[in-house]
Amino acid sequence: MAEYANIIVDIYQGKLDKTFQYRVPERLKSTIAVGILVSVPFGSRKMQGYVIGLTDVCEYEEDKIKEILAVVKDGVRIESQMIALAGWMRENYGGTMNHALKTVLPVKEKKKAKEQRTIRLALHPVEAKNELAECERKHKTARAKLLMALLNERELEWETATQQLTVSASVIRAMEEAGIVRVVSKTAYRNPVDGLDTGGERKQLNEEQQNIVSKITAEYDAGERRTYLIKGVTGSGKTEVYMELIAHVLAQGKQAIVLIPEIALTYQTVRRFYNRFGAQVSIINSKLSAGERYDQFERAKNGEISVMIGPRSALFTPFPDLGIIIIDEEHEASYKSETVPRYHARETAIQRAEMTDAIVVLGSATPSLESYYKAEKNEYCLLELKHRVQKRPMPLCEIIDLREELRRGNRSILSDRLSELMEDRLKKGEQTMLFINRRGMAGFVSCRACGHVIKCPHCDVSLSQHGSGDRTRLVCHYCGYTTAQPDLCPVCGSKYISGFKAGTQKIEQVVKARFPQARVLRMDMDTTRSKEGYEQILSAFANHEADILIGTQMIVKGHDFAGVTLVGVLAADLSLHISDYRAAERTFQLLTQAAGRAGRGDVPGSVIIQTYDPEHYSITTVKEQNYEAFYGQEIEYRKLMRYPPVWNMLYILCASKNEMAAGEAAMALMERIGQAAKESSEGIYPIGPSDAPVAKISDVYRKVIYVKTKEYRTLVLLKDKLEGFMKDNRLYQNVAVGFDFNPVNGF
Ligand code: ADP
Ligand code: ZN
Ligand code: ZN
Repeated sequence: MAEYANIIVDIYQGKLDKTFQYRVPERLKSTIAVGILVSVPFGSRKMQGYVIGLTDVCEYEEDKIKEILAVVKDGVRIESQMIALAGWMRENYGGTMNHALKTVLPVKEKKKAKEQRTIRLALHPVEAKNELAECERKHKTARAKLLMALLNERELEWETATQQLTVSASVIRAMEEAGIVRVVSKTAYRNPVDGLDTGGERKQLNEEQQNIVSKITAEYDAGERRTYLIKGVTGSGKTEVYMELIAHVLAQGKQAIVLIPEIALTYQTVRRFYNRFGAQVSIINSKLSAGERYDQFERAKNGEISVMIGPRSALFTPFPDLGIIIIDEEHEASYKSETVPRYHARETAIQRAEMTDAIVVLGSATPSLESYYKAEKNEYCLLELKHRVQKRPMPLCEIIDLREELRRGNRSILSDRLSELMEDRLKKGEQTMLFINRRGMAGFVSCRACGHVIKCPHCDVSLSQHGSGDRTRLVCHYCGYTTAQPDLCPVCGSKYISGFKAGTQKIEQVVKARFPQARVLRMDMDTTRSKEGYEQILSAFANHEADILIGTQMIVKGHDFAGVTLVGVLAADLSLHISDYRAAERTFQLLTQAAGRAGRGDVPGSVIIQTYDPEHYSITTVKEQNYEAFYGQEIEYRKLMRYPPVWNMLYILCASKNEMAAGEAAMALMERIGQAAKESSEGIYPIGPSDAPVAKISDVYRKVIYVKTKEYRTLVLLKDKLEGFMKDNRLYQNVAVGFDFNPVNGF
């Protein structure tokens, strides 16, 4: 029980780090906690503030410090919940309370962005004309003026109506209430869904879908609160299940949050929700400014909306009575924050749900190893959709051995079989997607004759190519092991051993040369600089304005193209050999997603997977769409190598402009960790320090340490210890140290 509380008096002013310290009186010690609203003396006044931290260290003059007056009892305010959640995040992911608060609370802009409102007709023009006649008859001149203008212009700025036409705000409001006009707020609605159709038809759920809905809703009504994992093959109708669950909680006056990876947050997806739930749906995305996000959150708080769809950050929508959090594509790496606090949206959602009496539903065709592992241990409840809707068949998957192609003298990126099928699709007027699963810097080295990949002898991940020419070295990103690049394959002696390089542009050239008659679209970082570029390419392809779409993983995320009957994965190895212990998992996920794009319409689809490693389990199991078989093999590897989810891993980064300082700081931490390992009864296994995958970014040197332990909690305690060690230590004056728990993408 802490002696002092750090309190913040106005949480929306952006000065979240400006806290005041108060003494906790004896009688309040057992009730005070992070997030609680209290009243305190402030100057000569009494003010309310939130407790954001508790401590035994007095940071103020002991004899001048004031006491908290009372705990404010007005139910549990949403702010309290969010602050308590921030406290949990700070503790479990590191960083400061200020960082955590900024993540969960929207900050009010000093000058609120001027609201841009427009007025539109809510009636059919024919009805509007009748209404106009009626108004003229009754001499309602203001109404008539506005209707006339709207019949001419369709849309008017609020200011035009009130100033030029001199129609008062109360008249507009009355007309809005009567359902004659609609007032659309543009700042609040950075909402691509505004103006879409509503009241769309509800799909009759099939038996599998209904079983899941019935089970979850029955448990919900019985007061059970838990986390569900819906494992549903691609095209099995997960979204329909989500919508049914949302409808169920909305009917009880509660609200829903739906997390979707930003890249899949397309018009197509949002429209489905809007169609079902209408204007109570809103979305947020990363392009909103702080002020716009604040507006959205205000609308959630005051009950204007009850369903929020968005990426990771939508999790912090301040719904007062949250009933359900849905995380679609729960395996996606983008659910892990790349900035401090480096939280995982899945874990944080579960924590928020626990605090607010909500349930969490995770969905994926290829659950993360983490989630499936928890489901196996009955921490999550596993539910399955094993079939595509309307008995559509799963696509047929063929694996092409690229070593074989080379032996036969085909050095093209397109195997003979893939070319043949593409030719066939072009003839039939069906569409093809070519997918290259490149991610970041895929610097691994492999043999094109036998498929051998050079790996770290200690960590069992691929080595990465660094440097060029004579100075090329192969380096392990975990332990720093380094070796020279061989000239000949150590297994078969072939000279075709090198880094694999092929980009979307190169592929486009090859495809155009091979099929001059085909209309080709390419989607990659270059062609999708703008959000519009991305949507444009997608819709052009959906409208069959092209025969072939070539792209990186952007093209495989959750888009429904009914015309696609062939999907080609050009080099499955590209994601298999990135030097990351999750490489196989990523590959399995990407390939399954890619395969899932084929045959979404009425014609069954084919999938061609080209690879140098056709026997690898992440590839053979995709062919059979056998998640369990993949999981079984992968979890053994994780156990053996002590990787998550069986073990937990903390990534510590020391960064400094001074390479020596970064190195010394890392060494000192390593020593401290070694000491902690000796003192602990639990196994603590540090690795490193070594250079980070990107050893230097804009003149800042980066050294990393990994620590593996069985329990997550052990890592949290270790982090606290290290923070204590670094505090006021001169070694860390010019070195920034960051922590990342169970890193997903590395720093
Ligand atoms: P998933 O998210 O599992 O890939 P979706 O929810 O996107 O699947 O559903 C795939 C397609 O099937 C969508 O076009 C959807 O409208 C349709 N669909 C879903 N459930 C049903 C159903 N019960 N009856 C008919 N069509 C359905
Ligand atoms: Zn070889
Ligand atoms: Zn290694």
